[in-house]
Amino acid sequence: MPVAIRMNSTTVIAWMGESAREMRSHRDLLVQLDAAIGDGDHGINMTRGFDAVVAALDGDPAQPPGRLLILCGRTLISAVGGASGPLWGSALRNAGRSLGDAAEFDAGALLAALQAALAAIVDLGAAVVGDKTMVDALDPAIAALRAGLAAGQSVEEALAGAVAAAEEGMRSTVPLQARKGRASYLGERSIGHQDPGATSAALILAALQRTVAGAV
Ligand code: ADP
Ligand code: MG
Repeated sequence: MPVAIRMNSTTVIAWMGESAREMRSHRDLLVQLDAAIGDGDHGINMTRGFDAVVAALDGDPAQPPGRLLILCGRTLISAVGGASGPLWGSALRNAGRSLGDAAEFDAGALLAALQAALAAIVDLGAAVVGDKTMVDALDPAIAALRAGLAAGQSVEEALAGAVAAAEEGMRSTVPLQARKGRASYLGERSIGHQDPGATSAALILAALQRTVAGAV
């Protein structure tokens, strides 16, 4: 039996900090991907949003992890103008609500929180797998996390599987035609480009995996 890892507010703060660093270090890539099939602001939106999240957490760190995630979600919604702000904002807010007021959470609660996050994105954006959006990375990642945990893997192992699935999902967007968001206006011209939102989603999950593995 893998040792049951317990996660807490420190995990959330470290995950958000690592996500902000990932957005910053991949900002130009995300801008280039969005310039090809959108309006070129995705790297700017995500960097601004996660920097605002880190600042909000700095001001208010002494809360349970669920409350912190709700604060992160609210901050993203108000700091980011593009589609990704409300989508990721609602996602983190729903994840926080799923965790509730507990001081700690385990692998099962993490899975439920990520499922709640994806449900918020689908509720708001109505995208399904294959529409060439962040859902193409998040949906298979969460399925892999669920399968890994059900097979008895540790949360670190199951998250590593989730990141691999997110990256595969991210790459799977290249040949797709966009059916949601700004890229859908391009019709067939959106084919042949990797979706920026799927790319940042894979980076955010990789940040979570490294955080939980203690590498951050
Ligand atoms: P905008 O398109 O408003 O400029 P961003 O550039 O920040 O916003 O984000 C674009 C990304 O948002 C896309 O690459 C896609 O992954 C994601 N996205 C757009 N619309 C949707 C939607 N309806 N559902 C899920 N994700 C979406
Ligand atoms: Mg954009």
